Amino acid sequence: MKSSDHEESLDPLDWAPTRALAHRIIDDAVTHLSTLRERPVWQQMPEAVRASFKAPLPLGPTPLDQVYEEMRRNLLPYAMGNVHPRFWGWYMGASNFTGALGDFLAAIDGSNLGGGDTAAAATDRQVVAWLRDMMDFPATASGTLTSGGSMANMVGLMVARNTMAGVDVRAEGITALPQALCFYTSDQAHTAHQKALEVLGLGSKSLRLIPSDKAFRMDVAALTAAIAEDRAAGRKPACVIATAGTTNTGSIDDLPAIGALCQREGLWFHIDGCIGALVRIAPVNRTLVAGLERADSLALDPHKWMHTPFEAGCALVRDAKKHRNAFALHGEYLEEKPRGLAAGEFLADYSFELSRGFKALKIWMSLKEQGVEKFGRLIDQNIAQGAYLTRRIEVEPKLELMAPTAINIVCFRYRPAGADEAAIKALNTELMLRIQESGLALPTDTTVRGRYSLRVAFNHHRTVQADIDLFLAEVLRLGALLENSPKTP
Ligand SMILES: *Cc1c(COP(=O)(O)O)cnc(C)c1O
Repeated sequence: MKSSDHEESLDPLDWAPTRALAHRIIDDAVTHLSTLRERPVWQQMPEAVRASFKAPLPLGPTPLDQVYEEMRRNLLPYAMGNVHPRFWGWYMGASNFTGALGDFLAAIDGSNLGGGDTAAAATDRQVVAWLRDMMDFPATASGTLTSGGSMANMVGLMVARNTMAGVDVRAEGITALPQALCFYTSDQAHTAHQKALEVLGLGSKSLRLIPSDKAFRMDVAALTAAIAEDRAAGRKPACVIATAGTTNTGSIDDLPAIGALCQREGLWFHIDGCIGALVRIAPVNRTLVAGLERADSLALDPHKWMHTPFEAGCALVRDAKKHRNAFALHGEYLEEKPRGLAAGEFLADYSFELSRGFKALKIWMSLKEQGVEKFGRLIDQNIAQGAYLTRRIEVEPKLELMAPTAINIVCFRYRPAGADEAAIKALNTELMLRIQESGLALPTDTTVRGRYSLRVAFNHHRTVQADIDLFLAEVLRLGALLENSPKTP
């Protein structure tokens, strides 16, 4: 069919130049990834580049090759840098090329996964089932892919709230709660839980922060006491949020003990496994997260230790009926049908979002290509790298380890002679900023029990031991330089 003069679309009139450009984009992408080490991990944007993002709304067209050139010039060099082998800041994933192809092909497929009898929805169900199997959850458990760990935790906590409310909270709202609900987590837990409880209408005060022990694990005796205290005061202990891999130090709560406590006390057992749940597939270290499989709900983050391109999180819920009861709702325009496109259960019945992207494809393609065993070995590799750096720090008189290394996160700092806490913080902050600005590596910082600390997280499939040696040599060189220049920083 030939279109009339008045009708237009977003497709090019002639596909040939578009095809040629698309080939070039893929070529450039492969070059970009295969030459990562030749470039700085991160670099600051020049003012001219920053200004380019203030350009006014484009009213008319620009040829796509020009748009791409601008992207290549102004965007790609000023990325976060987490794809670079020496990026160890916060807790990112490193992405991967197959995942990137998956994102591209998901957009070509174009499906909306909220509902509908499509291969895309079937792929999503399969990926959730694979993640469920990786976590040793029962086949009857349900799950949903989310934007990330924050949303995955919120899904789990919402099912927990509704189950423990003692009232139909969907209909009556939280003002009808017969008793105030109490949630428990450690003082090392992620802030995502407080945010979730605020959104769920329970308020941040419903979250009790239980002290952690020397190994930064939730103190189970203090947890037991807090639960008893709330009961005695007429409040309802509802849920314990254990963390498998805390963000600050990577510590893993005593999951078997907390699981047993929840069972005894009749509490919902939620695990935040955004960092550590995937240790479950690591052949050498899997026992570190024993007890994970007993959770009522579990949040994990494929975009962290599986390096799925952002975004991809996942919530698993042991009791699928409770999960569905928290979210299922159909308008008259969205009735399920026995046949046709609207046949089958809607994925939207397991989460808040209706329209859903095809996040599953990038995970599906990578898992099929590499096999889950490879992902497990890569996790062991990162944990071994954490142990290696820790050993090197322990024998350096000028370096101080700030927390025991539980998995792949190492907290440490340079220790100048005779300096007080403020001077140590100033020196180490300057040291970190110089390394970031040099582009050599990307460590970040944190505060551990009130003391300033540098922090590296080896969450990378591209990092090798020589990268760690290079980084450590630079830390020692800069530390000595800053220590011996009296006016710095
Ligand atoms: C990263 C993280 C989160 C939040 O996950 P996002 O994917 O960033 O939303 C929650 N808990 C822990 C322990 C995390 O490390």
